[in-house]
Amino acid sequence: MKRAGITSRIVVLICVTVCCLCVVITAVGAKMIYSYTESGLKSEVQAAARTLKRLYDKDFVISTGNADIINIHTNQNMTINDFNEITSLIGCSSDIDFTLFRNDTRFFTSVKNADGSAAVGTKADSDVTLNVLGNGNEYFNRKVMVNGQYYVGCYIPVTSFDGDTVGMCFAGKPLDAASKNAVTAVSAFIALSLAVLVISLVVCIIYLRAIISGMGDIKQFITGIANGDFSVKMKAETLRRSDEIGDIGQHALKLRENLRDMVERDPLTMLLNRRSCRNKISSLEESSTGYAVVMGDIDYFKKINDYYGHAAGDEVLKMVSALLSEVSRSNDGWVSRWGGEEFLAVFPQKNKDQVIEILKQLIEKVHDTKCSCGDNTISVTMTFGASVHCEGETMDDTIKKADDLLYKGKQNGRDRFEV
Ligand code: GH3
Ligand code: MG
Ligand code: MG
Repeated sequence: MKRAGITSRIVVLICVTVCCLCVVITAVGAKMIYSYTESGLKSEVQAAARTLKRLYDKDFVISTGNADIINIHTNQNMTINDFNEITSLIGCSSDIDFTLFRNDTRFFTSVKNADGSAAVGTKADSDVTLNVLGNGNEYFNRKVMVNGQYYVGCYIPVTSFDGDTVGMCFAGKPLDAASKNAVTAVSAFIALSLAVLVISLVVCIIYLRAIISGMGDIKQFITGIANGDFSVKMKAETLRRSDEIGDIGQHALKLRENLRDMVERDPLTMLLNRRSCRNKISSLEESSTGYAVVMGDIDYFKKINDYYGHAAGDEVLKMVSALLSEVSRSNDGWVSRWGGEEFLAVFPQKNKDQVIEILKQLIEKVHDTKCSCGDNTISVTMTFGASVHCEGETMDDTIKKADDLLYKGKQNGRDRFEV
């Protein structure tokens, strides 16, 4: 089974948290918006009915003698134009219907019949009649039957001069239209919530990737080192980070350097060891670069150990290493500790004459250098054997030639070189 990576786990964690939060906020928000829209609807319908009643009361009265509604100032019958003028003054949303009842019968109304004509002469619901005409109360209902259709409606009793309830003012909204508004408001809120959810997730994931990206880089770096590849690189941006991941990157880099030294270098002299020297020579051969090798050995080193002690012998080895390094570097080569007091220097693209020049420098430098160990000043000599790599020859052949020449140098009296 494929292992879940840290990125996918954090992504799941963020998604679950953000989604849960969003669902809760959306549910609570949608409920609140729905209630708010509903209560707004009630206020709107009630206000419209009360305004109709106020405007009616200002100028009109239902006559007790006949079925007419009379303008108290002009003594004229109320007309549909008067009614329309009043309702147009109320100034509310266009889908509100108004009715003026004479008792329970629609006298003037914007409520329509199925054929589109005004529902004049139709009757109010029995519940309304009972509450408003019977008890003289204002009546609001979220679902009241108005001429065969459900409305959110408000009825207000209309009284005669004598105080008898003789009619009603009605304002209401068809239930379909009213609930459509609430649904639209809630849908808009849910759509907004979803958009916020998606944007938050995208932002979280982009930010998370930026946070975690360095970890993948460090992982491949350490994997490379674990597989013995010290040439593996880390991205500069990972190392530049100022957080813990940047610190881990820096430490991994240091770890690589220390490990590389441990694997490739001799711990006493810090010169390359025999194995890494051979690897470097192989690289030269792979790129068909010619080279010369110089095998050097300290003369009578055993006596130094015996006379001054092993620690002093170590100091001499370090001193010799430093001078060999210096001469090798200045001649575009390198030097390795080949064995106890034996060193192999390699010089790419050098011919016999150039090598002889280098050997002269080496002998001179060894003569000039002295090692201070406690109260003692120790000077040494060295013998060198050198050979230039020839076409068709193996690395071992070339090194053996140098080694044989070194032996010859020892035979011929030491403190000298043979090429
Ligand atoms: P020659 O001139 O023929 O090379 O004589 P030599 O005494 O230098 O050679 P020999 O091979 O007899 O002795 C080498 C000595 O180097 C023996 C060994 O104890 C010493 N040696 C090898 N490695 C180390 C080291 O790391 N530290 C010290 N102090 N001595 C070492
Ligand atoms: Mg020796
Ligand atoms: Mg030796």
